[in-house]
Amino acid sequence: MDTDGTRDQVYEDGNALGGPLSEIFAVDLTAAVGRCAGCGATGPMARLRVYDRAPGLVARCPDCGRVVLRLVRGPDTAWLDLQGASSLAIPLGPPS
Ligand SMILES: [Zn+2]
Repeated sequence: MDTDGTRDQVYEDGNALGGPLSEIFAVDLTAAVGRCAGCGATGPMARLRVYDRAPGLVARCPDCGRVVLRLVRGPDTAWLDLQGASSLAIPLGPPS
């Protein structure tokens, strides 16, 4: 088990972030390609391992286990922590 107790818990893939993030962003971030700030691995956000037993969602890198994203939804505010992602490439298509 990890020091914060989440490593051995059952997780979902990053597609579980799609609904909660759609409330904040106009584009589907599960298709965005993120770079892990811990190990440098890149891949679609849908590849992350999402744990929902904490207060909110915790998404970890499938390669090194580092927390890439945390999202907590309160009654009237969402807190989004992306400090574990050094970059996000978000597919938008050509400018309209
Ligand atoms: Zn990593």
